[in-house]
Amino acid sequence: MVMSAAAYLPAPKLGEWLKELSVRHLVLAPQARGDAVVFAPYAEGGEIVLDRDATMPPKQAVFPATEELLRFRRVKDPEDPGRVDVELSASQPAPKTVVFGARPCGTRGFLAYDRVYRSPKTTDPYYAARRDATLFVTVACTAPGNSCFCHWVGSGPDDASGSDLLLTPVTGGFVVLAVSGRGDELLGSPLLEPAGDRTAEAEKVLAAVRAALPPAPDISGARDGLTAVFDDMGFWDEVSAKCVSCGACTYLCPTCYCFNITDEGDGLAGRRLRTWDNCMSFQFTLEASGHNPRPTKAHRLRNRVGHKFSYYPALHEGAVACCGCGRCVRGCPVSVDIREIVLAAIVRAARAREETAHD
Ligand code: SF4
Ligand code: SF4
Repeated sequence: MVMSAAAYLPAPKLGEWLKELSVRHLVLAPQARGDAVVFAPYAEGGEIVLDRDATMPPKQAVFPATEELLRFRRVKDPEDPGRVDVELSASQPAPKTVVFGARPCGTRGFLAYDRVYRSPKTTDPYYAARRDATLFVTVACTAPGNSCFCHWVGSGPDDASGSDLLLTPVTGGFVVLAVSGRGDELLGSPLLEPAGDRTAEAEKVLAAVRAALPPAPDISGARDGLTAVFDDMGFWDEVSAKCVSCGACTYLCPTCYCFNITDEGDGLAGRRLRTWDNCMSFQFTLEASGHNPRPTKAHRLRNRVGHKFSYYPALHEGAVACCGCGRCVRGCPVSVDIREIVLAAIVRAARAREETAHD
């Protein structure tokens, strides 16, 4: 993490600062929509919700739920009616965006995306354009919930590795820390004051939050454990028994990045759309022949948990595809808990090893 500069933003100036940022950027900030908190365009005077984590992570800023990739139109040659050309027009450019007010876990999700969509081998131009156009101003988490487990996966309530600026609440306002070169550029506002002693206060606030977290279990055996129980369908039937295959866990997850592509139009003209997909759905792997390699919810949950803690780390130097935000735990209507599944797999695999050793 590059820490280059810190400033202080008095809380009463927050609205003015967001208004200032809005001159050059689309500013997305957490706002209440019914019982939910979602990232929506900030309008002057709008009420920002910072006292709880957003229901939805800010992934839509870079990976919209539905995104137009291109438009197409078939054009007949009047001189040669048998000849039809297809005209393509590019999608709209990515707007310059500031995502304000996410917790660090929500923005760290994009690090999992980057390894897939912006890797040395492959770059998804739509993703890369939005990613490059988006700045993240996160707020350190000072009240982790009981479903949060960022510290299990090597992170923490002030892990700014996915942020450009990190704000820490202190008396009367926020200490604003630049953690990237792009974040540095946002510190030029006349509304910001020198941080002075407030940096030490911010450090104390963060140390207290870290100290209050319950101890994290060792999940370094997750990859081997999940591999060991891969064929144990009794295990997967058990842990998926109450799942109703609603897909909420995937849509709420800041690290789930599967998509589908469809064309819509009248056959002569239309647009190509990319939309989020959901591996907990029966249709996700349904093949045209009718065969489905993941025919039961047990197979599908095995894939979701296995992908995050086993297959993805195998491909990406041990990095897990879970930032421990706990959204899937909070959002699941029947409280399927990914933490319990990972721990259970580790225990089951260890028991199997012991039994084999005693045979
Ligand atoms: S799997 Fe659950 S806890 Fe992990 S990043 Fe996704 S929603 Fe958050
Ligand atoms: S949110 Fe819960 S019930 Fe819905 S698909 Fe995910 S695990 Fe199953």
